[in-house]
Amino acid sequence: MAESQISGGCACGAIRYALSEPPQFAFHCQCRPCQRATGSGHASAFVVAKDAATVTGDVTFFDRPSDAGNTVSQGFCAACGSPLMNKNSGHPDSLYIHAATLDDPRFFNPGAVLFNSAAQPWDFVDPALEKWNPS
Ligand SMILES: [Zn+2]
Ligand SMILES: [Zn+2]
Repeated sequence: MAESQISGGCACGAIRYALSEPPQFAFHCQCRPCQRATGSGHASAFVVAKDAATVTGDVTFFDRPSDAGNTVSQGFCAACGSPLMNKNSGHPDSLYIHAATLDDPRFFNPGAVLFNSAAQPWDFVDPALEKWNPS
């Protein structure tokens, strides 16, 4: 991923972000909260250092408890409804950004599937990907 070109935003353009570092890890997540947040079978997201992200515009956060006892804050654009980025109180230095918000989503390169145990029978992801089921 060309580091100077990692940028993205929501559907209406009110929120934009730019990254000074490449993603640390990319994944699909099939947990139920990600299904609800995306309205689909899974979220596709990547992790970046929070300090590497410059965000402009007002991200609205919906807080919910995670199974691990942390607070997950699901960030979205209140104007257009696009899911953009999550925070997790257990990992305060990280930001979890939804892949298709990238200006060039082809760069997304998932390395694992999370919460595959919660997958819907109609949701197909690359079967070669490693499956993680955090407890
Ligand atoms: Zn928007
Ligand atoms: Zn999830």
